[in-house]
Amino acid sequence: MKSYRKELWFNLPTRRGFVNITPQVEEAVRESGIREGLVLVNAMHITASVFINDDESGLHQDFDRWLETLAPHEPIDRYLHNRTGEDNADAHLKRQIMGREVVVAITNGRLDFGPWEQIFYGEFDGRRPKRVLIKIIGE
Ligand code: ZN
Repeated sequence: MKSYRKELWFNLPTRRGFVNITPQVEEAVRESGIREGLVLVNAMHITASVFINDDESGLHQDFDRWLETLAPHEPIDRYLHNRTGEDNADAHLKRQIMGREVVVAITNGRLDFGPWEQIFYGEFDGRRPKRVLIKIIGE
């Protein structure tokens, strides 16, 4: 069995945002040389997510509005976590909803997606460098 590891770095200029990272994951699969296996893609920070859904801008705005309804950023003092001096309690909650990682099958050297599936990085406390881990195993 072969394995391959790669990190992607992000530094979004905004507090929240979604980035389609499918091309970077496809590139990592090519670099790995693995034809049959699995790829794990996970956010390495507890205020960011990796998830799979449609690359449609209206849907992304819907996600953002929905998350702000469930866990609004303000008022900051509504969250116990922010008594630590942080202001990112909402980002921890948003990450929990949108998930930490995805696993995708690799078949014949390609990501074996269902219809319209794309992989996204979800940032909920941006404006600083953050990482995503890609780990590929197979043969
Ligand atoms: Zn925090």
